[in-house]
Order: sequence, then structure tokens, then C-alpha cells
Amino acid sequence: MKKIVATSLFLLNVAVFGQTKQDSIQFAKISTEILNKGKSYTELRDLTKNIGHRLSGSEAYEKAVKWAEQKLRDAGADKVWLQEVLIPIWVRGKESLQIKTPNGKWTNLKMLSLGNSEGTGGKDVSGEIIMVKSMEEYEKLSPEQVKDKIVFFNYPFSQSFIETFRGYGDAAKYRTTAASLTAKKGGKFAIIRSLSSAFDDVPHTGAMRYDSDHKIPAVAIGSTTADELETLLQSRKIMAKLNSSCGMKGEKLSHSVIGEITGKKDKSVIVVGGHLDSWDVGEGAHDDGAGIVQSIEVLRTFKNLGIQNNHTIRVVCFANEENGVKGGLQYGKMVKENNEKHLFAIESDAGGFTPRGISLEMDEEKRKQIQSWAGLFLPYSIYDFHNTYSGTDLYPLHDMGVPTAELVPDSQRYFDIHHTEEDTFDKVNRRELLLGAVAMTQIIYMIDKHW
Ligand SMILES: [Zn+2]
Repeated sequence: MKKIVATSLFLLNVAVFGQTKQDSIQFAKISTEILNKGKSYTELRDLTKNIGHRLSGSEAYEKAVKWAEQKLRDAGADKVWLQEVLIPIWVRGKESLQIKTPNGKWTNLKMLSLGNSEGTGGKDVSGEIIMVKSMEEYEKLSPEQVKDKIVFFNYPFSQSFIETFRGYGDAAKYRTTAASLTAKKGGKFAIIRSLSSAFDDVPHTGAMRYDSDHKIPAVAIGSTTADELETLLQSRKIMAKLNSSCGMKGEKLSHSVIGEITGKKDKSVIVVGGHLDSWDVGEGAHDDGAGIVQSIEVLRTFKNLGIQNNHTIRVVCFANEENGVKGGLQYGKMVKENNEKHLFAIESDAGGFTPRGISLEMDEEKRKQIQSWAGLFLPYSIYDFHNTYSGTDLYPLHDMGVPTAELVPDSQRYFDIHHTEEDTFDKVNRRELLLGAVAMTQIIYMIDKHW
């Protein structure tokens, strides 16, 4: 009996070890291929320098659709198609925010209207600024105190979290709700301190939303500008004046771009993706040009290495993540309608920095299985499998029970530049970007082979 147990354990070990060895050889091939021949970096340069920022609804976004279609064909996709998505059109137009300084002069502040915000219709709207440092402080104000005022939500991005997206998550409600909260108590517009981990005067845009038809503007200022304004407000009353022509301009039909290599064994789908749109400032390099070129790299690597994929590997370049998530919603709707079996989906939408791990939003059994592969990833410095969120575009899939995931890059610099004019190609490092594509290809290789 003892001997039988020992023998079968030995055989089991050989099987596991044999499999692991084979997988680790494939991991090395994937890494060597991408680090030497990967095209992510040159493709990102092309996307950011020749097309630039690409807010959904813009002409640049439509160029990016054609670009992604071509890149997926070049990478060797068996099938490339466009998925129709009805997207909102938001336009920034002209904007300025001024404050009246103690010498009585109006001075411009560096600012950005928040995405989806209504403007002032090109007219000056002015009033006295009142500052609050938190939601709790704002809640204590009466409508009489807020009426006709400009509310300045000066909530600082927490520096305490090691994973900076937690600081972002903590401050996000100020961006999304400042305008509606201000409107409810009769204020004229809202100013927020940017959701920024940096100490500079760079304003960060990003999506906000209204919870009623009373729509007043919301704008963001950079950290040091917010500090200066706070200091001024401590000694005197300060007037602010906003003039902006931003606003929603209806909807239009646009597209997400999809390319795939068909499964050799069955047609169940593994998704890898990013979002093709970006905000209308900077170049959308880290957010999320990086995720797009990395996802295309995964497909190209399967083709170049001749890996026989059991399941269909599908790259999805989602439309409109930034100001509506219409691409992600539409994709989920199609999966449901076609009853397409999805095994797994991963998004890269946290920047093209050095990858550290993979966040897993799935049941415990599946998470444990992936975590059991950690030893294979360790030589590539991928060690962090503890987070349990996934890419925004994948929530509709997650809600249908699909195991979803997100690449976890080092997060220390992302929220310095996120949604700003500073999110440009020169902030991306070639090796860091490619290593992200390596990790994504490796996880997809494992899922394809073992699930
Ligand atoms: Zn993004």
C-alpha cells in the first residue's frame, strides 16, 4: 500500500514537474520573443505621435479605430471586425478660470473642466469661493451658506496608500459628485483639487456625472494651485470667474475594434484588451495606449511563436471607457445575446509601467489555481496576485460570471500623470511596457492550456 502511494505520488510529481518545466520553457520563449522583437513600443509611438489623444466622438478616435484594425491584421489576427457602439460626444471647447487676487486683478488659474461637465455657455459666471476639505465638512453647510457660491472641494489625494490606485479610489467621489452636490445647495459651480499623487500645478480631468437635470460646471486645479488658493482663502474672501464652452453634443455611432485567432480545439473565448479612447489632453500614452499595444502584442506573440491556441484568443480595443464605458457595456451585451462562452478576460489599464502582478476577480477556486502558478511568474518579477479587482471594461463580463483580471503595474507614477497633458509617449519605458505584454501573454498561455 505504502509503495503504491509512493509510486503514484512519484508519477504525479513527474507529471506536475514535467508540465511545469514545459510551461517554464514556453514562458522563457514568450519573454525572449517580446523583449527582442516586440512591437508595442514602436506602435505606441505611432499611436501617440501620429494620432495623439483620442476622446471618443472625436475625429482622432475614428483614426485610432482604423489604426487598431490595421495593427490587428498586421499582428496576424484570423478575423478583425468593428463592433458598433453608440457613444456620447463631449466637447471641451474654450475654458478659463480666474480668481481676483488681493490687488484686485483677475488672474488665470491652470485648470481643466471635468469630463462630461456642462460649461457656462461661453458666459462669465462668478461668485465667492467657499472651501471644504471633505464631504463631511460640505454636508454641514446649509443651503444658505452655499447659495450663489463657488464650492472648492480641497480634498487631498492620500499619500498613505502604497498602491496609489487606492488613493485614487478614495478621492474619486469628489470628482464624480462635486457638481451635483454643489447644485443641490444652490452653488454656481464646483472646483476640485485634482486626483493627483503629484505636487505640481497640473490639473487632471476625468469623468464626472450628474444625478439631476440641474447641471452646473465642475473644474479641476492642480495640487500646488489648490494649496495656494487655500492659503489665500485663509486671510480673505476670494472671487472666482469661470467661462467655458464645454458640454455634451449628442451621441454618435462609433466602434470598438476586435481581432482574434480562432481556437484550434473549441470556440470558447479568452479576452485580452485595453481601451482605445483617451481623454482629450496629453497623448493617452499610459492611459491606455499602453494597454492597447500590449494586447495586440499578445496576439502577435502567439502567431510568431506558432503556439497552438486551444481556445479563441480575442483582443478587444474598447471604445469610450473614459466617459461612458459604452464599449465595455456593448461587448457584454453581445456576449450575452450570442451566448458566447468566455473562459477568462484580462485588461491592461493601469499604465505601461513595470508589471508587478495580476489582479484576479473570480471565485476562490480559480484564483487559487492561478496563484499556484506563481513560481512560473517569479523569474519575471511578477509576484503580486493578491488584488481582487479587474478592468472597468470587463465589469459586464464579470457580472455574467466570467473570471476577470487586470495587469498590475507599479503604480507609483501613474496618478502623477493620469488624465493630464503629461500622459505622453516619453513617459513610457520600452522594457517596462514590453514586460507587461510578456506577463499578459504568459497568463493567457496558461489559461488557454490549462482551463
Ligand atoms: Zn484608462
